[in-house]
Amino acid sequence: LVRLRSRLSRSQNALGRGLLAVLSRDRLDDEAWEDLEDSLITADVGVEPTREIVERLRERTRVLGTRTPDELRSLLREELVGALDPKADRSLAATPHDGRPAVLLVVGVNGSGKTTTCGKIARVLVADGHTVVLGAADTFRAAAADQLATWAGRVGAEVVRGREAGDPAAVAFDAVRRGIEAGTDTVLIDTAGRLQNKVGLMDELGKVKRVVERHGPVDETLLVLDATTGQNGLTQARVFTEVVDVTGVVLTKLDGTAKGGIVIAVQRNLGIPVKLVGLGEGPDDLAPFEPEAFVDALLG
Ligand code: GDP
Repeated sequence: LVRLRSRLSRSQNALGRGLLAVLSRDRLDDEAWEDLEDSLITADVGVEPTREIVERLRERTRVLGTRTPDELRSLLREELVGALDPKADRSLAATPHDGRPAVLLVVGVNGSGKTTTCGKIARVLVADGHTVVLGAADTFRAAAADQLATWAGRVGAEVVRGREAGDPAAVAFDAVRRGIEAGTDTVLIDTAGRLQNKVGLMDELGKVKRVVERHGPVDETLLVLDATTGQNGLTQARVFTEVVDVTGVVLTKLDGTAKGGIVIAVQRNLGIPVKLVGLGEGPDDLAPFEPEAFVDALLG
């Protein structure tokens, strides 16, 4: 939490700043509510979720006769936490079961941070005593397999890679086979995410999934989303949710944006829990997502 707070420090945080401005007013008049709305939208919460949150907040302050900044702050906190589905299961299905490895597919637009996230997740799992195979099924981007191999070396995981420009599904299949043969706990599969061609992407990801499932079900499909792409990123994200059954979101680059409200937009628009957040490029810059701690950091 300390790290989260320092990375989302209030000084660079649009929502925190806007809220401070509202709290420093002596009256909760129309203008104050508009300012709050503006600061939520500026923080990338999204227009619809913002309207709902502010409407509920207005109604509750009216009913409760809220006057003080502290009371308003705590009501806003409740509304934001509530918007983040605080009861959702955010654990990763990453431990072996039924005598076979857990299989995780990692999908998302190129550049969103998939390869880095695979490396960071492997790091956490290895640190917990698990064995990990990383499957380099992003055979389209030449450097992706090298990058994943570097991560594997760094964190103590094994990497399975194919030929350059080879069949991603074949690599994914081989990675899971290797995991089964070696009695590995977890297989993480890094995939390609070319969005230019939606049909091609659907075909490719669909095939990767089908081929992997010849070994058994995929336990978790993580969608990696770059927080700095804001509302546009959400439109792209939806394409992935149409192709594969996404079970969790990893929101990366939260350290690089003053718009942490995007987490709320993701939850509201996709209805899929954000399970992990990326807070930097280093191996330890991955944190489990905790709605309450996050909102506290957001509000400063
Ligand atoms: P991929 O194409 O989806 O596999 O994306 P990469 O894993 O190659 O990441 C693209 C760039 O984003 C790299 O320079 C990463 O170091 C950087 N990156 C990934 N995650 C984070 C994060 O949480 N914070 C920051 N600041 N950079 C990140």
